Amino acid sequence: MAQEIHDTVAELLARAGQRYTPVRRATVDALSGAARPVTIVDILDTADAKLAQSSVYRTLTVLEEAGVVHRLPGPVGFARYELAESLTEHHHHLVCVSCGTVEDLPASSRLEKTVAMAAAEVTADTGFKLHGHRLDLVGLCARCK
Ligand SMILES: [Zn+2]
Ligand SMILES: [Zn+2]
Repeated sequence: MAQEIHDTVAELLARAGQRYTPVRRATVDALSGAARPVTIVDILDTADAKLAQSSVYRTLTVLEEAGVVHRLPGPVGFARYELAESLTEHHHHLVCVSCGTVEDLPASSRLEKTVAMAAAEVTADTGFKLHGHRLDLVGLCARCK
């Protein structure tokens, strides 16, 4: 993985008063190598290092608090995790309510323009200061349909 990402993660952790330990590094490697948001079980399956489930869970909590990891809520034990957009790229998700799979959906300029226009109306109406948006499309994947 790009050293740049590790440097940024180390910096975010330092800002949160945390060290970049080998378990945290292995977890970031697993997330970075995944093509989509993954569960803890996926991380345990793909990580090169032998990791304990409890330590990965604690690690993800620390990484989330430090702004390194974004957590997508799911049924108990089936939350999915990905690197935060500040480390990757802005994108959306396709969430299957049947099998629970989550696929990344690259942001299209057309969708971004539409969302930005809608958001501008909302901020003008409410005085809300916008930092960004998250958009997940929920439904059935091609296999479950
Ligand atoms: Zn599905
Ligand atoms: Zn977007």
